[in-house]
Amino acid sequence: MATDVLDVIRTKRDGGRLSDEQVRFFVEGYTAGTIADEQAAALCMAILLRDMAPDELATWTQAMIDSGERLDLSSVARPTVDKHSTGGVGDKVSLVLAPLVAACGAAVPQLSGRGLGHTGGTLDKLEAIPGWQATLRTERVVGQLRDVGAVICAASETLCPADRKLYALRDVTATVEAIPLIASSIMSKKIAEGTESLVLDVKVGSGAFLPELDRARRLAETMVSLGQAHGVRTVALITDMESPLGRACGNGLEVTESVETLRGGGPTDLVEVTLALAREMVVLAGLGGPGGPDTPDIPGADPAAALADGRAFAVWDAMIRAQGGDPSARLALAPVQHEVTAPTGGYLRRLDARAVGVAVWRLGAGRSRKEDPVSPTAGALCVRKPGDRVAAGEPVLVLHADDPARLDGALAALGGAIEVGPEPPEPRPLIVDRIA
Ligand code: URA
Repeated sequence: MATDVLDVIRTKRDGGRLSDEQVRFFVEGYTAGTIADEQAAALCMAILLRDMAPDELATWTQAMIDSGERLDLSSVARPTVDKHSTGGVGDKVSLVLAPLVAACGAAVPQLSGRGLGHTGGTLDKLEAIPGWQATLRTERVVGQLRDVGAVICAASETLCPADRKLYALRDVTATVEAIPLIASSIMSKKIAEGTESLVLDVKVGSGAFLPELDRARRLAETMVSLGQAHGVRTVALITDMESPLGRACGNGLEVTESVETLRGGGPTDLVEVTLALAREMVVLAGLGGPGGPDTPDIPGADPAAALADGRAFAVWDAMIRAQGGDPSARLALAPVQHEVTAPTGGYLRRLDARAVGVAVWRLGAGRSRKEDPVSPTAGALCVRKPGDRVAAGEPVLVLHADDPARLDGALAALGGAIEVGPEPPEPRPLIVDRIA
């Protein structure tokens, strides 16, 4: 019987399961333009309200992968392993992690999209480096993986075109939050990229895409199952995003902090999350010992050592140069710097990640529409972190702006974001859960 788009929508609207034929008919038809946006919007809303069964979602994800090309990384003579983060404020982990894991012997093919909303995009951060190019042809991606071991670049237009259309539609129809749609969107791109293994950093807390733990855990479980069903070894860590990660938020500021970390310094929370993810990646790539990543059976595959002894920094240097960037360039600082001070003395009990993310976005570091430019210099430095002591009138944050007119909006976003009290806050674990 011929499949009909209205039947597909009705089936899901009424809580039914879509057949493999219906799923393929829809994904292929929408990508080709024979199914209209309003019909796709109705189906996305029905999926948000009715959910999808695991095998239905596996077929949906496969159809999204099949809508475009799949990279062949078989000529890269190292195990391939990538990482995806659901996005957070000050989340510059990829900048440190990709060269670090390459320094341990794996190849890291990190094909990324651009940031939207209050969490920054990895490509936007790297574009703060003079000369650095995000767009590479596929042969160069593979060549750089072979020669350097790590590449962070823009995903090509031909990778999962179904996702490009669907994501843009979901963005304007209040259907981004559907867990099966998020999971298939992320995993189809990562599977099409050709990586053998994948570590997911699913953020939880106020600055996260899904702030609640139960939803973050469900997303992590769904993505891990999808990866495994498609032959990609996948592990997820759920990590805390209640306050910004590290001290720097904003494109150029985050690059500077990443370089400090690659030189063996950097904030302790950033180092902890990066090393936890790196250890998972090294083990998935078959480079860590069964006794655990602290006793690797392959010399050189210990991420903490590779960070401390300069090997990760050497890969960073080569990775940036290979894409036209000047890793030794001093990054410009914004002309306007404005201190946000503590109202009273005591311990910093809370520094709300979402509020800081929105403030940084309003200062010009992020975009509302995908065509918008971003500022390389706008951002914020968290001078104090939760648990630190602070005196009344001392700075908690320093806002960096190109234009003083942007400060009012940023300050308005920070209303209620800073809480100081007489007692230190309860310590929060950074690594909240592991799903394998
Ligand atoms: N990131 C993606 O790539 N897709 C989503 O649906 C949400 C976040």
